[in-house]
Amino acid sequence: MSPENNDELNISKQTELALKEQIEQQRLVIAIAHRIRQSLNLNEVMNTTVDEVRQSLKADRVFMYRFEPDYSGSVIVESVSEDWNPILNIQVEDTYFTRTRGEEYRQGRLQAVADIYTADLNECHRDLLTQFQVKAILAVPILQEEKLWGLLVVNQCGVSRQWKSWEIDLLKQLATQVGIAIQQSELHEQVKAELIEIRQAEQKIREQAALLEITTDAIIVCNLEQEILFWNQGAECLYGFSAAEAIGNNSQRLFRQEISLQFEMAKKTVVESGTWQGDLCQRTKLGKEIIVASRWTLVRDQGNLPKSILTVNTDITEKKQLEAQFLRAQRLESLGTLASGIAHDLNNILTPILSSSEMLALKLSPLEPQHQQMLKILEQNSKRAADLVRQILTFARGSEGKSVYLEIENLLSEIEQIAQSTFPKSITITKNLAQPNLWKILVDPTHIHQVLMNLCVNARDAMPQGGTLSIGAENFFVDENFVRMKLEAKLGPYVLITVQDTGVGMIPRVLERIFEPFFTTKELGQGTGLGLPTVIGIVKNYGGFVNVESELGKGTKFQVYLPSVETGERLEVENLELPNGNGELILAVDDEIAILEISKTLLEDSNYRTLTASNGIEAIALYTQHREQISVVLMNMMMPSMDGLTAIQILRQMNPQVKVIAISGIATDRELSEVFASGISAFLRKPYTFSKLLHTINDVLKESVRSQTVKKMLLVVTKNSEAASD
Ligand code: ADP
Ligand code: MG
Repeated sequence: MSPENNDELNISKQTELALKEQIEQQRLVIAIAHRIRQSLNLNEVMNTTVDEVRQSLKADRVFMYRFEPDYSGSVIVESVSEDWNPILNIQVEDTYFTRTRGEEYRQGRLQAVADIYTADLNECHRDLLTQFQVKAILAVPILQEEKLWGLLVVNQCGVSRQWKSWEIDLLKQLATQVGIAIQQSELHEQVKAELIEIRQAEQKIREQAALLEITTDAIIVCNLEQEILFWNQGAECLYGFSAAEAIGNNSQRLFRQEISLQFEMAKKTVVESGTWQGDLCQRTKLGKEIIVASRWTLVRDQGNLPKSILTVNTDITEKKQLEAQFLRAQRLESLGTLASGIAHDLNNILTPILSSSEMLALKLSPLEPQHQQMLKILEQNSKRAADLVRQILTFARGSEGKSVYLEIENLLSEIEQIAQSTFPKSITITKNLAQPNLWKILVDPTHIHQVLMNLCVNARDAMPQGGTLSIGAENFFVDENFVRMKLEAKLGPYVLITVQDTGVGMIPRVLERIFEPFFTTKELGQGTGLGLPTVIGIVKNYGGFVNVESELGKGTKFQVYLPSVETGERLEVENLELPNGNGELILAVDDEIAILEISKTLLEDSNYRTLTASNGIEAIALYTQHREQISVVLMNMMMPSMDGLTAIQILRQMNPQVKVIAISGIATDRELSEVFASGISAFLRKPYTFSKLLHTINDVLKESVRSQTVKKMLLVVTKNSEAASD
């Protein structure tokens, strides 16, 4: 083989080796780059990097050195062979770096020293390397953008080593990859921190939102056009609109709030100064008027432009009413004092007039009949004036009086007399006492006087064109049946006072509110709206209650129930004559189980048999089974599932002769006529006593059903109520 050939062979062998090294270098760079892209764990990336570099370069030690801001630093990862000492975590202060602040390395410089003892090295640097047993060193910078983050260093410890250019290249490429990994990991840490921050903010918002829902205040957010954007649970409770109903609506229209000067001013203020607060009058879904203490805060967008208004509303309706009530009561009290003062003076003035007229009649006799008549008129009218003054005085003294055992008859006569002499002559006044011996009540007479006067004056006001005012009283025994139907009622004897007029009546919306203080439909100066609240206040104070029935255009009936102090014999007589049954079967239909049960017990005690149903469908099923035996059906009109009216119509289709007593608590004119048109035998208004129920059943059983017309049935009802109260 020629020497040329040998050379050629050598060259091709060398090329092959270089190629192999190049391939190995590429493989390593690709593998590490791949790992870096896969892992966000910087530590792991750095550790595998130093391991793999040491293996592929067959070096004694490979490590990464990280700089602190002052260019001191420490070894943070290391791969070292077992024969040499590890230097991990050792703090190093190399004056070269602290002095130059890494300037040259930042420009891309690196250090490749084959033998530290022959190289031109700074003394102190050489000492440091000797300390670490280093013979040869290769160090490349790890850059973070412009900053020198650290160094990637390869050491040969036992022997010197000539660093090949591919090794230097490889190290440089790997240092770049590590730089990318560091940046990637820092970015990841930053994102992680931001995520945590966002989560915490979210949690805070959720907690605040929960608070928004707990508060009883209404919290509402509207945009500047008054369109509702947010509506909390407090708002749902206060106004009755659900969030779904409210959001997207105009708040002004939702609350039926008038566009007032106050509102416009409030809007202007909140836009200009950021807040506003004041009281507003609004309406709920049901139309109830409420007063709220309202606090507005302007919310701005990121560009600092007004975006929306946050409103917090607290219901202060009751507080306002109480305040007003208190003020009015005080005013009334001073009026009372004034009135009693005037009455007193008037008394002093009237006394001499009265006595002079009597004296004159004596002194001047014999007088001409004409003159005598004049003196008589003088005397009579002074007496009437004195009477009136006495009335005012009893009134004004008010609650000073003591409770006495009152026979209501006398008080009724007194009221009748006052009404006769002061009400317009177009009003006819009648008095009915149902029985001669009315039970006694323990009351302050002035109070009951006030109650009756308030009711009579209201009746008078309701009859501007005249009509009839009837006042009356009767004994009324509240039985268990009645108690179940009327919350305030207690078992026992009551005196029932009735004040009834044939006046204008009331629509349900007014009827609902008449006991509210200051509710009046009268013009300013004509009504105070305190009459009925006073009535209810006094009556409740004595443990009584009030019932009202009214029909528009027909008139109004107030029934005042006052508990009687009666015990013993006088009561027992009343309860004796209840008409008993003869084993007839009665079907009672009511959705209130308590009422059904008590009716069943009482009816069975009175010698009836019973079937009970709690709705229309059950009732029809029972009627189908026992049609032949059932004598009377007691049907409540207001029931879920199938209402009374429908049930009655079906029963009538099954048997046109069926006898039905309809029962209802509320019945308007129209409802009543519908009920009667459905062909019932009688109608009972809740609450009713058991005695009334028995009388009605008794009457219905006796009646011939066939020929009844609506008019006749109405007659039956009136007759029944008279019969029951006897
Ligand atoms: P006032 O009489 O000062 O208005 P009240 O408390 O006595 O105050 O009555 C409240 C309201 O109830 C009246 O304004 C009226 O609308 C209504 N009202 C009371 N009694 C009757 C009645 N007998 N007939 C019709 N409406 C009545
Ligand atoms: Mg009144």
